[in-house]
Amino acid sequence: MTTPTAFDSLSLSPALLENLSGLGYTEPTPIQAAALPLILEGRDVLGQAKTGSGKTAAFGLGLLNQIDPTRLETQALVICPVRELAEQVATEIRRLARNIPNIKLVTLCGGMPGRPQEISMRAGAHIVVGTPGRIAKHIRKDLLQVTSITTLVLDEADRLLDMGFAEEVMEVVKPIPRTRQTLLFSATFPEEIRSLSRKIQKNPESVIVDTALAPGIVEEREVFAKPQDKTRALSRILRQEMAESALVFCATRQGCREVAKTLASEGFSVATLHGEMEQRDRSDTLIRLANRSVCVLVATDVAARGLDIDDLPLVIHYDPANDPDIHLHRTGRTGRAGRSGKAFSLVERPVPGSISWGDLSPQPGPPPAPPMVSFLLNGGKKDKIRPGDLVGVMVNEAGLNPEDLGHIHISDTYAVIAFRNGVQRKVEKWAAKGRIKGKRLSPMYVPDIS
Ligand code: ADP
Ligand code: MG
Repeated sequence: MTTPTAFDSLSLSPALLENLSGLGYTEPTPIQAAALPLILEGRDVLGQAKTGSGKTAAFGLGLLNQIDPTRLETQALVICPVRELAEQVATEIRRLARNIPNIKLVTLCGGMPGRPQEISMRAGAHIVVGTPGRIAKHIRKDLLQVTSITTLVLDEADRLLDMGFAEEVMEVVKPIPRTRQTLLFSATFPEEIRSLSRKIQKNPESVIVDTALAPGIVEEREVFAKPQDKTRALSRILRQEMAESALVFCATRQGCREVAKTLASEGFSVATLHGEMEQRDRSDTLIRLANRSVCVLVATDVAARGLDIDDLPLVIHYDPANDPDIHLHRTGRTGRAGRSGKAFSLVERPVPGSISWGDLSPQPGPPPAPPMVSFLLNGGKKDKIRPGDLVGVMVNEAGLNPEDLGHIHISDTYAVIAFRNGVQRKVEKWAAKGRIKGKRLSPMYVPDIS
């Protein structure tokens, strides 16, 4: 039995509808309510809504509703600006497609080994999600047939253009039959987006959903601190808010590093994210933030682009952005999908409504501890490690409760497992001798803040 939802009034297939209630999507978000009927009619849509408003499901449901699983050819293509984003989109589409048997989705992203992607493409894909360069490469090599594509999506189109992908996007889009449906989503709507839309869409319907932050959901506050007091002000805000997850924005990589070092010396669980990090350190940092084994992430705008982090209660503009769009984009990391959040800006001169940092709670508690700890297993998918193996061993051999395990991330060659903060002794004791398929488990090395 499925409970009736507001999605019911849309002409979605029963398999999709039934799964939605299973996912807890009881009603469409405003962008979904506005865009889905048009998408399901087959119209081209130019959609704008803030980060976290549910754009992925808007186009994801639209394209899934069109797919014919019995024809194993590429029917939908989604172009995203960065790999992390493509992976999130792929994950969300897979979740939405859970009730449709035999749907094949392949991600084609730069920065990943090409071989497995080629093998997957030869085996066939109904849906392809990826970044422009890698998609173009597969088209050139004839590994991706574009003639069967009926739905084309450009996600975060403004970022695609910001990051200089205009040419590659056009190279990919041109050979796709004009009979296609083209959906273009963007958080902002500059002239470049309108012009791109004119080039690739047919008679598009614009759907704009309140670009301002939903009132009352995100509380924004300006805190005045002189440059030399900023790190102390930051530390006080973080302790006052007791945030187990917070994102701090700095203007430069050097700034990130200094702020993170100071916080670490005060006992904060902190990591940095900037453009010059090794891919492995970058992924590990994101895994730790997502699995809640690090509390504070200090990032530059470039590095944080396209990040989708759920449940982020606090954003701090350590160096406020000059550009209101960037400010909005940063603040949009909190208060997602109807949750509440707070955003603080550290201003170096008092502004109307700002409070002085000295007026923040004078005796805030100690730095909050992360609720989880991360362990590293030196084997992954290639060693046939699966989540079930890990849970089984930790419960049966190490004596943990299933609730002591958190997020499990398994990549090709290694895995990261989050355990409830407090059980690490038990885990280490078991790991001194125990093995999982011959692989060792050890406390995870924290990337150096540099
Ligand atoms: P956007 O692309 O607009 O930034 P996402 O598509 O990433 O936003 O969605 C943000 C979050 O909202 C995701 O965690 C998603 O699973 C959730 N979500 C989407 N649609 C619904 C819905 N109708 N009901 C509840 N949660 C939803
Ligand atoms: Mg999105």
